[in-house]
Amino acid sequence: MKAVQLIKCCNIQQAILSDKWYAPLNLIWLATYLKTYGTESEILDGIFLSEEEITQKLTAPIVGINFNVLSIKSMEEIAKIAKTKGSVVVVGGQAATPLARQLLMKDKDIDAVVLGDGEEALLQLTKRVEKGILSFEGIPNIAYRKGKEIIFSENKQIDLTTLPLPNRRIAGIDMDKYIDSFYDTNTDPVLDNVRATNAYMKKGCPRRVGNHGCSFCARIDRGLRSKTALQAYEEYAYLINEFNINYIYDDSDSWVKPSWMRNLLSLYSEFGELRAKLRVYADVRDINENSVSMMKDLGVDTVLVGIESGDERILRINGKPMTKEMIVKAVKLLGGAGIKLCDAYVLGLISETKSSVEKTRSLAQQIGHYCERRITYWNVIMPLPGSPIWSAMMDIPQLREKYGNEYKFNVEEVQKDYINHFCHLGTDGYSYLTNTCNYLQSLQNIPLRKYIR
Ligand code: SF4
Repeated sequence: MKAVQLIKCCNIQQAILSDKWYAPLNLIWLATYLKTYGTESEILDGIFLSEEEITQKLTAPIVGINFNVLSIKSMEEIAKIAKTKGSVVVVGGQAATPLARQLLMKDKDIDAVVLGDGEEALLQLTKRVEKGILSFEGIPNIAYRKGKEIIFSENKQIDLTTLPLPNRRIAGIDMDKYIDSFYDTNTDPVLDNVRATNAYMKKGCPRRVGNHGCSFCARIDRGLRSKTALQAYEEYAYLINEFNINYIYDDSDSWVKPSWMRNLLSLYSEFGELRAKLRVYADVRDINENSVSMMKDLGVDTVLVGIESGDERILRINGKPMTKEMIVKAVKLLGGAGIKLCDAYVLGLISETKSSVEKTRSLAQQIGHYCERRITYWNVIMPLPGSPIWSAMMDIPQLREKYGNEYKFNVEEVQKDYINHFCHLGTDGYSYLTNTCNYLQSLQNIPLRKYIR
């Protein structure tokens, strides 16, 4: 029996839309860390297992559940059964951290909520449970009940340079299943002759510090933390050599950092270039002649750029002050270097009007001329707990009363309430935005992607 079972929850709707080839890296990171320090765990991924299959497999003394706003029901069900079987139930992840208080107040099946990095919290908890001690006191990055109080422990960010290489052969992970699912993806045009997988080397973004950053961003990390370029080189090489991967989606939010890229380039010169192409994220503000030239030398095939809006006023209000000139220049540089583009937009940003949506649509059309485009992602904004727009919603008494003490939401209702209060789109802004988004996405013949950050 494993000491810990780590579960990724999914709901049916999400499982259909999700990229099944995406390995649950956050859980793989955790499981590898636990194993390095002597604790065996197992991952149960709801992308391949039904809720019933997951609950039948529950046997571990500690069950850790990762969920998002679309899979809360599934989390509740799994937590209930795990609790009935006598496990200590811990939930965590992007959605859990900002909702810790509400989760602990309302769901008695949950014993604790991991806040941010879960590595040390889970390890310390496991060591205690192994000795028959159930106390959360003194464990970092955790919230728990103490009588009627909710206690939040000290928050410590883990140093990524100390982490082991994430082991894709950890119990519960069958990489072939993930890799084979790449050709079923419905959120990216499938590439030919590709064995693809995902990775990430960095957490956070230098622009999300304090209350700064994009209005819609619900990233729980503040600032940017990186693995070293050597760790990245070794992990890419491991994926290539062990799994024959030739295309890596590196989902680090801020992959483009000149000093880090220079170090990676030195490793390419010293140990040889990697035989895999990369798709990375880049911010327009980080795309310049120098970074594009390094991207090219590092084998970057495609860059995903969050452009969000074609209206400079909207970009400024929403914490992403970029000009159209900067956007066009960045896209032209990528195009000139033969790097492909995935551009992403969010409809329904604060102060959105029909005219600003038009500007966005027109900019998207314009930049298509400057760079080979792989796909454009159109999304209607989804206010998520932890984002600045969620805080702004909670400043409105009526919305605070409706949502402030809850952790379960009707996502569409939240979107409608937000749009009514923060956009200038007339009486049925929600329908206008979803229809526009569906139409724009349908032009590409690829199903609409749910927007979860
Ligand atoms: S959306 Fe991206 S660029 Fe904006 S703050 Fe979040 S991580 Fe940074």
